[in-house]
Amino acid sequence: MARRRALIAGGGLGGLTAALALSRRGWEVCVFEQAATLEPVAAGISLWPNGLRALDQLGVGDAVRAAGQSPGPGGVRRPDGSWLVRNDLSAAVQERFGEPLVLLHRAELADIIVRALPFGVVQAATRVLGVHPGGEGTPATLITEHGEGDADLVVAADGIRSTMRSFLFPNEAPTVGQVDAVGYSSWRMVAPNPGNLPEDGTGFETWGPEGRRFAVMPLKHNRLYCYAIATETNAEVGSPLDRLHQHFGDWHEPIPAILAGLHEEDVMHHAVEDLHPGLPAFHRGRVAIIGDAAHAMTPDLGQGGGMALEDAVVLGSLAGEGKIGDGYVSVPIPGVLEDFSRMRLPRTSMVARRSRRMGRLSSSAPYAAQVMAARMVNVLPGRPAARSLTSIVDWRPPELPPADPPPSTAC
Ligand SMILES: Cc1cc2nc3c(=O)[nH]c(=O)nc-3n(C[C@H](O)[C@H](O)[C@H](O)COP(=O)(O)OP(=O)(O)OC[C@H]3O[C@@H](n4cnc5c(N)ncnc54)[C@H](O)[C@@H]3O)c2cc1C
Repeated sequence: MARRRALIAGGGLGGLTAALALSRRGWEVCVFEQAATLEPVAAGISLWPNGLRALDQLGVGDAVRAAGQSPGPGGVRRPDGSWLVRNDLSAAVQERFGEPLVLLHRAELADIIVRALPFGVVQAATRVLGVHPGGEGTPATLITEHGEGDADLVVAADGIRSTMRSFLFPNEAPTVGQVDAVGYSSWRMVAPNPGNLPEDGTGFETWGPEGRRFAVMPLKHNRLYCYAIATETNAEVGSPLDRLHQHFGDWHEPIPAILAGLHEEDVMHHAVEDLHPGLPAFHRGRVAIIGDAAHAMTPDLGQGGGMALEDAVVLGSLAGEGKIGDGYVSVPIPGVLEDFSRMRLPRTSMVARRSRRMGRLSSSAPYAAQVMAARMVNVLPGRPAARSLTSIVDWRPPELPPADPPPSTAC
């Protein structure tokens, strides 16, 4: 059986799920990942109902729910540990959208997706160098450090510092799709529970002056996913772990206990960035650009990964059947990629804009104003936090047909 072929640059969340969506439609897929291993990052990820619904269409939603955990009642604290707001965001999300928020380790999420893929489709330790986008009647060509290959469809999923982006938008590159540092830094780590945090799923976020925040969220197997932000100039000294101690070491327990148990290699530290201004389209020729490569956003709404999952399912739905022959309809790829841009660009731009705005508020609004706003939201009737997210979280994926048996050959 002949099959249409998709080559995918990048084996992060976007690239792996695009591979799964396409292979479930009968496409032959191959993912090229520069790193030697997939998602080894020491971080968790929160998935909202929109992302979980996308995973359902890929047949892995229930496995992800089983591997994850919903945060229980929690809220916002002050640096001395007193509670500013007590709430249960996950219950509010469940009540409004029919699904809770799910937290899990990124490596476990990647593992679930890879296990659902046909064997051997991920080529690790292979850097992608460039692409010829092709067009109607001409295949796209993906160039890697180990050779090049033609494809009916190429997916650029190589993250915020995408190499592919500059090949797809060479003329626009100086003005759009720029990586923009928004002025604060993030730290992420997975730590063992130091023992003084209940295992019932209770997490919290502590807000301090100068835009400092430290979040602690429980993961399965008595681990914690911690996430911190602080505004930093380039004048700070010391390692990322040293700086965590400087910013948060005198805050309430269990934060100092968590920091005391960390080693340098447990901490991921980045300047927070997004793409600003965004791209004019998410395709060129036979290439679709997805995930952070297309629309990296600040992490303030926890939706960058969710958008990558949505992209993958929409792409899988538009790309049509991968099998070639009598009775199979091959949709014209350059044409449907225009639909892909039309469907994904307005939505991801809206989410990125809201995320950036939220980050600006939390990093630069005076502390007293943030405290007052949190208190006001807390006394409003209903579940305002969940309600305000409706246009983002209440997304429904296109239905993908039941999966095809995967092709038996690796790429
Ligand atoms: C601090 C922080 C917290 C976040 N929290 C959340 C959250 O809770 N929930 C959520 O949904 N999202 C969250 N996000 C966003 C989320 O991490 C990203 O949106 C998501 O990982 C994007 O996936 P991706 O596959 O598009 O890109 P990436 O995850 O960046 O993957 C790109 C892959 O491409 C590979 N690659 C790059 N260049 C090449 C090349 N030339 N050749 C071959 N391979 C290449 C890379 O090695 C990488 O594996 C957070 C982001 C940050 C920074």
